[in-house]
Amino acid sequence: SQSLEQVDLEVQQAVARELFRQQSTLEMIASENFAPAAVMEAQGSVLTNKYAEGYPGKRYYGGCEHVDVIEQLAIDRVKTLFGAEFANVQPHSGAQANAAAMFALLDPGDTIMGLDLAHGGHLTHGMRLNFSGKLYNVVPYHVSKTDHLVDMAEVEALALEHRPRMIVAGWSAYSRHLDFAEFRRIADLVDAYLMVDMAHFAGLVAAGLHPNPVPYADVVTTTTHKTLGGPRGGVILAKEQYARKINSAVFPGQQGGPLQHVIAAKAVAFKIAASTGFKERQERVLQGSKLLAERLLRHDVAASGISVVNGGTDVHLVLVDLRNSELDGQQAEDALHRIGITVNRNAVPFDPRPPMVSSGLRIGTPALATRGFGAVEFAEVADIIATALIAAASIGGNTDGSSGDGTLSDATAVELRARVTALS
Ligand code: PLP
Repeated sequence: SQSLEQVDLEVQQAVARELFRQQSTLEMIASENFAPAAVMEAQGSVLTNKYAEGYPGKRYYGGCEHVDVIEQLAIDRVKTLFGAEFANVQPHSGAQANAAAMFALLDPGDTIMGLDLAHGGHLTHGMRLNFSGKLYNVVPYHVSKTDHLVDMAEVEALALEHRPRMIVAGWSAYSRHLDFAEFRRIADLVDAYLMVDMAHFAGLVAAGLHPNPVPYADVVTTTTHKTLGGPRGGVILAKEQYARKINSAVFPGQQGGPLQHVIAAKAVAFKIAASTGFKERQERVLQGSKLLAERLLRHDVAASGISVVNGGTDVHLVLVDLRNSELDGQQAEDALHRIGITVNRNAVPFDPRPPMVSSGLRIGTPALATRGFGAVEFAEVADIIATALIAAASIGGNTDGSSGDGTLSDATAVELRARVTALS
């Protein structure tokens, strides 16, 4: 059989260029990571050829004896990793895991509560255009204006007022731990299900470096490709009592044939996540984000109106607050992109700028920790970012008179790009 290069040069070349991009820049998108070769080998395997509707031992297709072994390994490993009673490893993505979990426990028209998208929540927690916003009556909760922590007093008041059938706890852009026990107490007050979406911090939980939501929640969903470092995909964990409903909501409720090649890659990722090497890597993830937050909180950065939401971080990401800066999220993202650092702009709570521009950056350390970065490298990355943001924020970034992109002078960009290249 022919290689990709022989069959399709256009795709092969774009893949090669993407590999070069990943190798020659610093990847700091908080939801991204580098999957290990063993994970990619499983995902690129012959399992992609197999149909296996159903579950291990109960398939609607013949020839499932080997994929059954693999799917059972994935189930058993992820249950052990997180201490869960039940697991479904078939959701194709985090969004589909959430859709299936909601589909299992709710009826259309039910009320759900989730963290407002603009305050760090995810689309699937009730955004207007998402299935969750269309199917359910959404009551968003928020972070408090004073400390930018999830306002648990508001969560309780809204729950008592609206009596939701489900409260969703979880986030895509937040830098502190959630109080799962308090969410459980409030859910119990109004007889609601508690669903925790740990997509972002699952790797930290697996390493024992973040509180585990599993003992508190009825259902826990996650992606497998963020801090967890596996293939793109989703997982649902739950109390045993919901097993039948959740299995049926995933298949036939949401999906047809499971992606057995991805499930195999998930099994490999769960094995890796139980290792001491994985824990050590997650420790470096946190070391990196804390170093970055510390650097961005220093006077020289503050003088440019730049700050850090929540005044620091307990997780794998830092949220840069540009609300008081001349620099907006789009310009900051562009400035870092120009020097080879990939991040995404992100609305911060109470953001005065429109979402497409925004007043924040979300900067994550998981991918660089996977590349082996430790304290020395992260300190240098933090200094490069601080220097770039200060330069970009200073009025007339082109102080040397050259033509930059409006946010960094050519000289600064060249100098910082060289420092990035030295690290990558
Ligand atoms: N849940 C949370 C909290 C997320 O941040 C994300 C992805 O960004 C998802 C779910 C959705 O995951 P996927 O992109 O795999 O659908």
